[in-house]
Amino acid sequence: MTIFDKFQQLAAARQQLEQHASDFFNVVVEEIISGTEAIVNGRRMILAGSNNYLGLSFNADCIEAACQAAREEGTGTTGSRMANGTFSGHVALEKELAEYFNRRGTIVFSTGYIANLAMLSTLVGPGEVILLDADCHASIYDGCRLGGAEVIRFRHNDAADLEKRLGRLEQRNTNVLVVAEGLYSMLGDRAPLADIVAVKQKYGAYLMVDEAHSLGVLGENGRGLAEEAGVEEGVDFVVGTFSKSLGAIGGFCVSNHPELNLVRYASRPYVFTASSSPSIIASTRKALQILSTQSQLRQRLWDNANLLYSTLQELGLALGPEVSPIIAARFEDMQEVFAFWSGLLQRGVYVNLVLPPATPDGRCLLRCSVSAGHTPEQMDHICQAFREVKG
Ligand code: PMP
Repeated sequence: MTIFDKFQQLAAARQQLEQHASDFFNVVVEEIISGTEAIVNGRRMILAGSNNYLGLSFNADCIEAACQAAREEGTGTTGSRMANGTFSGHVALEKELAEYFNRRGTIVFSTGYIANLAMLSTLVGPGEVILLDADCHASIYDGCRLGGAEVIRFRHNDAADLEKRLGRLEQRNTNVLVVAEGLYSMLGDRAPLADIVAVKQKYGAYLMVDEAHSLGVLGENGRGLAEEAGVEEGVDFVVGTFSKSLGAIGGFCVSNHPELNLVRYASRPYVFTASSSPSIIASTRKALQILSTQSQLRQRLWDNANLLYSTLQELGLALGPEVSPIIAARFEDMQEVFAFWSGLLQRGVYVNLVLPPATPDGRCLLRCSVSAGHTPEQMDHICQAFREVKG
């Protein structure tokens, strides 16, 4: 027996999948042409699954800011935020995020994954309880596990189920953190945030919302679902990422609780990893400025989302329950989803193929995400490719 024996099952599953869609395991983006186009495996593709919601990864001002920071401050900080890795750019970005969200404090992390790991593992520990939506992202589950709190799942987007479970806890008089997302990453559905806030307030719990996919996408100023739903004051902690609307990589948490700052000293995922490179911080600061002032990008994003959703709906595909920039079609059958995905690839459209166990209900998904950067011609091309493959 070796340590690799446990991989045999994985290897068999991979081999079986490879028979249906060999391309799936060998996707390499060989050349990036723009925020919405690339050469993938030798073919020119429109990228329609990239989470680049505002198309800012190729924004000229963001690129210039990144280049200038690299020239002036180097390619990396080579240190943790707690040691030599806090540069003036990190502090400035934290201030700008706090101002944008109208919150007292912000912590910037090296990725969104680390932000969830850091916050959840530090805020709630043994003897305390996390109540999380069952469809929450893997980084939320991993953060819960790292902290050692008791973890209870409530049914996806079901505030009544949350209330039932909170009610059962009440006699234990314990600290409870409720966790939900803004837009859910697989089907693009919104959390019923006003209902969740009402329940958390009734029971005196705390609430964290991961706005990874809703920052820049929802709300008049792009602050996410809490802004759109008018319940920002009811959300204790907002977590997010720089890797989607902001076109870079990194994560953050904003809060009005003055104790937020103390998390820095207690959080292993904050202390024991290098801080973001100066170029990342500089491009993110510029992107945040654009996100918060150029609402026309959000309008273009939603025009594209409405177009693709209505086109796929007319084709009779089984979509998520509401329009959003994440548009996912569900398939029951693995062979069928592979064939559809390959058909789109052949027509120059790259979307995400998501398979169990990463999907919410064990079904296979073709997950598209649109961008403000998609031109009308690119949107026509994507819609036409879906029409042809659906036949
Ligand atoms: N939270 C959610 C809801 C996500 O979808 C993701 C990434 N897909 C993350 C956190 C992690 O973000 P990052 O890519 O910045 O690590």
